[in-house]
Amino acid sequence: MKTYDWIVIGGGITGSALAYELAKIGLKVAILEKDSTPNNATYSSYGGIAYWSATSILTRQLAEEGISIQRNLPTELGAETDFREIDLFLTIQADEDPKTVLADYDRFSIAPTLLNVSEACKIEPLLNPNAISGVLRLPHGSVHPQKNTLAYQAAFRRLGGEIIRDRVVELLREGNNIKGVKTTKSKYYAANTVVCAGGLSRYILAAVGIKVPVFFTYAQLIKTEPVNFRLSALIMPAVQKRFEIESKGSSLDLDTFWNESECQSLPAILDPGAVQLQDNSLCIGQISQIITDPEAKIDAATGEEQIRQEIGTILPSLAKIPGTWHGCRVAFANNAIATVGSIDNYDGIYVFSGFTSTFLFAPALAKHFANWIATGEDKIISQLSF
Ligand SMILES: Cc1cc2nc3c(=O)[nH]c(=O)nc-3n(C[C@H](O)[C@H](O)[C@H](O)COP(=O)(O)OP(=O)(O)OC[C@H]3O[C@@H](n4cnc5c(N)ncnc54)[C@H](O)[C@@H]3O)c2cc1C
Repeated sequence: MKTYDWIVIGGGITGSALAYELAKIGLKVAILEKDSTPNNATYSSYGGIAYWSATSILTRQLAEEGISIQRNLPTELGAETDFREIDLFLTIQADEDPKTVLADYDRFSIAPTLLNVSEACKIEPLLNPNAISGVLRLPHGSVHPQKNTLAYQAAFRRLGGEIIRDRVVELLREGNNIKGVKTTKSKYYAANTVVCAGGLSRYILAAVGIKVPVFFTYAQLIKTEPVNFRLSALIMPAVQKRFEIESKGSSLDLDTFWNESECQSLPAILDPGAVQLQDNSLCIGQISQIITDPEAKIDAATGEEQIRQEIGTILPSLAKIPGTWHGCRVAFANNAIATVGSIDNYDGIYVFSGFTSTFLFAPALAKHFANWIATGEDKIISQLSF
């Protein structure tokens, strides 16, 4: 029987970063990942690093650590992540007042510059001047999300970590102690198990009666092959509706709205944006919707049409660009950075999921988590109780 110090459920960016940091402190770690071809939030992500977005002492420290880790990660992991510093253009709709929208960004640690329409279109000529009343410009980081994840996984393997392709069907529970996991093919035992399963995290835990504040949206986007032009900036709306539905979704009751037996939903929203990765491919999005059934069927054709229509308003030349629809579940927490830590009244089980600004905060929190495990205390992890 094979046993580990740690089993990490999920090989997206959160599980891969955490598994690497745990292996780095000398622990015997296995990642269990159900898919051999990635089909998760990480694969569909823009890979943006919003290090300007800190709003508190805690997030400021984590943002500084996160961007510093990302800048140095190709050297540390010995693999390319396509990290680069790039402008973020937050588009202000024609019917919105630029000064009011700008004022709402006062709370962040780095203040944006307000560009008028002609300044913005001079830098990014593909923007439709009639659709916007201005642009907020911010310094941003960007990685290729899948390369970032694979770089962590390769370094993890070099440290002796194992990646097992198998679906966890159940946590092995003895009383209030989690002893490992049952998969479709086998059982794996570990002193500790951490759930990094993105949108499915809540269901893995709920199946053994553990309720945690990790929720999820369904996201829809279009991915393209590399194109023969370059956008000068990452383009997203200044007023993002996604945060509103996450805030609403996390305030709804765990037992009634988010129960496991009945599917509930909230109306979909669309935040039109386009992000070009270093390899010149584009991610165009994004629709977000709360549907509590993790196996809900999404109408891809309608979603694609809506995304094309909305992006066509901001960036008309992208409306008909060849591309493929993708959908995924994206975890989020209750207005917090993430749901990270041990679980009250249970032993051997942890959660590391539901991140906001995942490519900024997850690498930093993975280091703090490993430090907490190695030393028994960490000033950051102790502030993240849920
Ligand atoms: C369109 C879009 C744009 C985004 N842009 C950004 C951005 O610019 N910046 C940013 O920071 N974030 C962004 N995000 C969010 C970010 O991508 C996610 O928060 C992040 O990828 C989540 O990582 P994860 O590891 O928690 O989940 P996932 O990537 O979903 O990984 C979870 C893994 O767990 C596995 N799993 C689940 N259940 C089981 C099981 N039972 N057994 C074994 N394995 C299991 C899944 O197969 C999956 O691989 C974006 C997301 C989307 C959709």
